[in-house]
Amino acid sequence: MIETADVVVVGGGVNGVSIAYALAARGVSRVVLCEQAALANGASGRSSALVRMHYTNEWDARLAFASFPVFRHWPEIMGGPPVFTHTGFVNVVAPPYADALRKNVAMLRGIGVNTVALTPGELHDLQPFANVDDLGAAAWEPESGYADPATTVDGFARRGSELGVRILPWTPVRKIRRRESRVVGVETSAGRIDAGAVVVAAGAWAPRICREIGIELPARPKGLDTVQVTRPPALAQPHVIFIDNVLGTYFRPESGIRTIVGVPCQEWDLDPDAPMVLAPSAPAVGAQILTHRIPAMEGATLARGYRAVDCYSRDRHAILGRVDGIDGLYLATAFSGSGFKIAPAVGTCIAELILDGRAKTVDIDAFCLRRFAEGKSPEGPYPYAIRRDHTDR
Ligand SMILES: Cc1cc2nc3c(=O)[nH]c(=O)nc-3n(C[C@H](O)[C@H](O)[C@H](O)COP(=O)(O)OP(=O)(O)OC[C@H]3O[C@@H](n4cnc5c(N)ncnc54)[C@H](O)[C@@H]3O)c2cc1C
Repeated sequence: MIETADVVVVGGGVNGVSIAYALAARGVSRVVLCEQAALANGASGRSSALVRMHYTNEWDARLAFASFPVFRHWPEIMGGPPVFTHTGFVNVVAPPYADALRKNVAMLRGIGVNTVALTPGELHDLQPFANVDDLGAAAWEPESGYADPATTVDGFARRGSELGVRILPWTPVRKIRRRESRVVGVETSAGRIDAGAVVVAAGAWAPRICREIGIELPARPKGLDTVQVTRPPALAQPHVIFIDNVLGTYFRPESGIRTIVGVPCQEWDLDPDAPMVLAPSAPAVGAQILTHRIPAMEGATLARGYRAVDCYSRDRHAILGRVDGIDGLYLATAFSGSGFKIAPAVGTCIAELILDGRAKTVDIDAFCLRRFAEGKSPEGPYPYAIRRDHTDR
């Protein structure tokens, strides 16, 4: 096979399919997406897919805010079944960070996000079963919720295909081809594809494929452990989603009767092709976390657990944009455990960057690769405590 494409997208996770769809929606007729396995083979297929807008920096928040209507109004915008479940969302912090949270809520409201800061007492009124003793404040987003990851990936792929995207599952890209300072296509297991632009949306595999063409990404694959419990009868009704900055984790309801718990995992530099095995301690640690915040979860029973891997950048923010010195090469990777909710806007912005030379929906310049050399980061002025699993030790 020697094919010619306008753009090749490497990777069929939520960001790859969103980018391919967005390019086709803008009228690019020859978009090819290569996925080495089945779609959603990477982090996207195991994502907890929280859809919220609370961030401590404006740029991620703007991407999440621009993406939110796509999840919420999916059947109208994308066709197919709904992907979004509304639950409400809180981000909770310890007392020393209460002021930072209120400042971040003000920043988010300035963008247009429907959010307010709550006192611990107000959070208790909202979720009477929650332990609020060690909390200083909570940011409440009444409209937020979570998405169904597989249906979202499938929906972008289906709509993209309808608009002409050629999706090639089970087709690994073996090499990105360049001639001097220009990308000229890719070499795949099925042959060569000539293309003027290549987008690397290869998740935890991105550092490897970039290294092969001489780009050292400041990013590493990291494990994420997740357990699911069946809630006790006393908690039959779904609770709101918590991101818990005191405990360094999150939990959200799943399928009516279960709760998903993110268990902090500090396993770095995992081989994304190796079998992923949940840490033996994860169920116990998950139970400890959950019962601290919701004591009635004592009666919950373990349903299942799994490990997945995502790509984390050095500053724990995505790497988005073109690569200086290599024309036609674009990166959409290193989403650092947080790239599901922003995928619709990432797709739109990367399409704008390729077609118009600049992303307009959200200015993504803060996420460029160059920032690491320049000592910059998208992080805002009021961060919270660094999550235990975000440290390298
Ligand atoms: C357990 C867990 C919970 C999460 N929870 C949330 C959350 O609540 N909210 C949120 O916003 N984010 C969350 N995330 C993060 C989010 O899911 C990821 O950041 C996002 O899914 C990354 O999508 P992606 O398309 O960039 O990468 P991936 O989904 O990893 O996709 C990359 C794809 O590229 C393919 N690929 C790699 N190399 C090649 C090659 N050479 N040729 C062809 N194909 C290739 C892989 O097979 C893979 O399918 C979570 C992640 C995990 C693992």
